Amino acid sequence: MHNFNTLKEFLEEPRNVVIIPHTKPDADAIGSALGLSWYLRKDEHNTTVLSPNAYPSFLHWMPGHEEVVIHDKEQPEISEDIINKADVIFCVDFSALSRIEDLGPMVEKQLSNKTIVMIDHHRGKVEFADYELWDIDAAAAAQLIYEFIDLDEGTQKIDQRIAACLYAGIVTDTGSFKYPSVSSRTLRIAAALKDTGLDTARLYNLIYDNNTERRLRFLGHALKENLTFWSDLNTGFFTVSQDDRDNYKLQSGDTEGLVNYALSVNGIKIAGIFKETDERDGIKVSLRSIGDFSVADLAAEHFNGGGHKNAAGGRVDGMTIDEAVALFKKVLEEKLK
Ligand code: 5GP
Ligand code: MN
Repeated sequence: MHNFNTLKEFLEEPRNVVIIPHTKPDADAIGSALGLSWYLRKDEHNTTVLSPNAYPSFLHWMPGHEEVVIHDKEQPEISEDIINKADVIFCVDFSALSRIEDLGPMVEKQLSNKTIVMIDHHRGKVEFADYELWDIDAAAAAQLIYEFIDLDEGTQKIDQRIAACLYAGIVTDTGSFKYPSVSSRTLRIAAALKDTGLDTARLYNLIYDNNTERRLRFLGHALKENLTFWSDLNTGFFTVSQDDRDNYKLQSGDTEGLVNYALSVNGIKIAGIFKETDERDGIKVSLRSIGDFSVADLAAEHFNGGGHKNAAGGRVDGMTIDEAVALFKKVLEEKLK
């Protein structure tokens, strides 16, 4: 691992920079990528944010969204070309190349040719970068982008545009500053971002007050029909079938936050969503916990995933939703014994 000072020197000349967020980027991943991009542009770097796939429309307000390149499975050469032209690749909000789908092998090929920087706060790190800013206690990757800027002695260059991107990442990854991951440092960084003149109330509106009737009806349906509690295991979970996805025309991001309704019930410490993917025998799993129980370990051990202690995810293939739920129950019974 190199010393950050050599990276600082390397960035003294304008470089071709590619910034990659994790697959199905959330506000933290895309906000971190765009915030970093705007910051690096201040020093004349040529930056491109390259996303493994699309992200929900409630994030399209983010400054720089129009310029994000979404990897196109039909034309992989576009992404390949962008990666080939890079001098430096920033990997943000993930710490294993398996988290960027088709872009993983493309970056893998460049590990010895290009400078690779990883900035992340997830467990389950796999070594691949020349520089790492990795802290699982950081509340958001966006918080670590701020720390990167601070290491670069550039916090005075943070403008409202950068602040909006980073603030969005911190707000969403902390459940609006409510999770235990929030430290005094998180709040100080939020305050520094606010001090740029950022209209934080407007930002909340953009992120949270964007429901559609369709999504609200789906929420009603899911609360009524798809929610199961196992009180003896302090667990509640939702299932979302392909039929639900068709009936409510669900889009990426529409189940965001759903899991928290299960967690909001008194006594419930573990919550999940089991969602059928396009292939009916693939199940996407999303897990949350309150307290010491690590859903990251559970996801890593049984659902090919990972994440944070209190928020993690994964997927299993070749299983029906009932089988995935049965596996979840068996694992919980063993772990909570
Ligand atoms: P969500 O449930 O909101 O999709 O994800 C919760 C957390 O778990 C996020 O930090 C996300 O990055 C991580 N996560 C979600 N799915 C996966 C996965 O398939 N693999 C890994 N390693 N992490 C995941
Ligand atoms: Mn994050």
